Amino acid sequence: MDDTTYEASDDVTEPGAVTFRPEVAGHEPAPSTTIIDDVFADAVATFKPRFEVNYEAYLDRLWEANPELHRILCESPDPETARDAMYAALDRAERSVFDLDNDLHILEKATVREAVRVFKSILGPVNEHRTGFSALRALWLLANGRQDELGQPVSVGFLLEFINLFRGVGGQANIYHEDREARRGIPDFLRLEGRAAAEARSEILDFMGATVRKYFLKYPSGLLERVIAWREENRDRLLRYFGGSRTDWDDPVWQLRHVIRDARPLLDLIELTTDQRRAVERAATNGVPFGITPYYLSLMDRELTVGYDHAVRAQVIPPPDYVDTVIELTCRRCVALDFMGEHDTSPVPLITRRYPRIAILKPFNTCAQICVYCQRNWEIDEVLSPKAAASKEDLERALEWFDHHRAVGDVLVTGGDPCIMPDSQIEHLLEVLASKPHVYRIRIGTRTPVVLPMRWTDRLVDIVARFHEPGRREIAVVTHFEHSYEITPESMAAVQKLRRAGLSVYNQQVFTVENSRRFETAKLRRDLRAIGVDPYYTFNMKGKEETRRYMVPIARILQERKEEARLLPGLDRTDEPVFNVPRLGKNHLRAWQDHRVVMILPTGSRVYEFHPWEKNITPVPPYNYVDVPIYEYLEELAARGENIRDYRTIWFYY
Ligand code: SF4
Repeated sequence: MDDTTYEASDDVTEPGAVTFRPEVAGHEPAPSTTIIDDVFADAVATFKPRFEVNYEAYLDRLWEANPELHRILCESPDPETARDAMYAALDRAERSVFDLDNDLHILEKATVREAVRVFKSILGPVNEHRTGFSALRALWLLANGRQDELGQPVSVGFLLEFINLFRGVGGQANIYHEDREARRGIPDFLRLEGRAAAEARSEILDFMGATVRKYFLKYPSGLLERVIAWREENRDRLLRYFGGSRTDWDDPVWQLRHVIRDARPLLDLIELTTDQRRAVERAATNGVPFGITPYYLSLMDRELTVGYDHAVRAQVIPPPDYVDTVIELTCRRCVALDFMGEHDTSPVPLITRRYPRIAILKPFNTCAQICVYCQRNWEIDEVLSPKAAASKEDLERALEWFDHHRAVGDVLVTGGDPCIMPDSQIEHLLEVLASKPHVYRIRIGTRTPVVLPMRWTDRLVDIVARFHEPGRREIAVVTHFEHSYEITPESMAAVQKLRRAGLSVYNQQVFTVENSRRFETAKLRRDLRAIGVDPYYTFNMKGKEETRRYMVPIARILQERKEEARLLPGLDRTDEPVFNVPRLGKNHLRAWQDHRVVMILPTGSRVYEFHPWEKNITPVPPYNYVDVPIYEYLEELAARGENIRDYRTIWFYY
């Protein structure tokens, strides 16, 4: 880790805290940011990623990464001959890890096996057929100086994937050899015994623990005194602007009445980048759903330079390309934006079903505010739409549907946000569901603890808790915190009310570029647990084109799980990282046998084959997914001031 990426600051939120100085989300992007190629060499430990791409240098690095594979590509008269020779070389590499005299690090051998498995899959003719691209042919043309025959240029992202794959199969990943602490500490520990061994081990664990703490300081929560004070100032400013009182602020009805629906209050109350201003104005004038509660606006830093609120802003201030895409798709929005294929999983209006025991009920089709990367943006027309409530007939029919599907015992009531409905309607809905003997759990999916915590009045908590009957029926609240900065005394108070009433509160996080930096999600987990929320799912972002800029490669979610989440106690990492396969449902990303890389495209995107969750139970065909290129993601991190060396092992997660 390189300390130069962030530094001590005078205006920090707690003693010893550090602040994140370089470009942050919401600021103007850094000009022509590119990263240097070799993320493994010590020489680049302190580089600032502001270099021009030297394509030829990347190519040289590719051939140096595995001279044997390079020779095969050069000596083969055509791609088919190269394929045979490459398979033979990969077989030899795989076998060599079992040789007695192979003195590679045992864990490096594991990387060899993984890399060989992936490379063989990419070389497979069937995968070339499925994806319409042959990485092998591209490599063969490049090796033989025939770039002009490529058809489409291959990117640096493509070259970097193969530089690392070549190194991986050759036992040169160097994940372990370059770790100074590992080199220094682990052999000592293994040579020692008893107390001496324990002390040596403890020293290594201290180092890891200090690393976690150091990163955690980058991501303050809204429970820090300094942040609380900032937010109080924001609240008072908002109240002056809207002409409200302190009592009004705590009134959910007042909050909903003052939901911000256009650019003006934002321009008046916080600094915006030019892009943000234009996007908000364009969204408001073109009917793109947009809305922010005054409470949530108070979580945004007034000045752009503070830099802690990037995830809060990104949640509700749409980027320009998002606005353009949604406007473009408006006429066919309800199909074009329905990435999860909910049209094809709804047996009757208001119901979605993807699992044997669970169904989703959507009685209310709007929210207190609009999240930019909402999965349901294809059906939410506008914030607090007056037409949001389901018709009486549809709701009755949907509730009746459960009587005919008695295997469904777990009902997720979501929307939209059902907690925006009046208390009486929530009560009626729960009454009807609770009257069905086979319904043993009702989950309420709501973002109100995050965006409108004052909605959890004593009365609403009483209504909900009344249907929670241990041993018979559970009521749980599932919410959606994205970042530690969203955690406030108000959200904690709402969660604690629910906990005291006996209800569990879970969190479903979407893993985006806004919360994917080193230990950023680990910090969120820690802060959630501190207020009484259990991390439940971490979602890989949907492959929806309009939100592409938020997306994080699958390799990063796997890296986070292994290198960051694993350093926390088990109770702090109760979430499961998942990929939601359209129409079918969640695929657990840690189940490596349920997905595999089948191709690397010229853009550097990996193509994954996802097996459905019911693999080995029912025969459902796999799903192909084109990921965002790792290189592009690293560029984005670099533009935000991250040291790319911190992420160097990402290439070896598949
Ligand atoms: S609260 Fe949920 S349903 Fe509503 S806009 Fe946000 S993500 Fe979508």
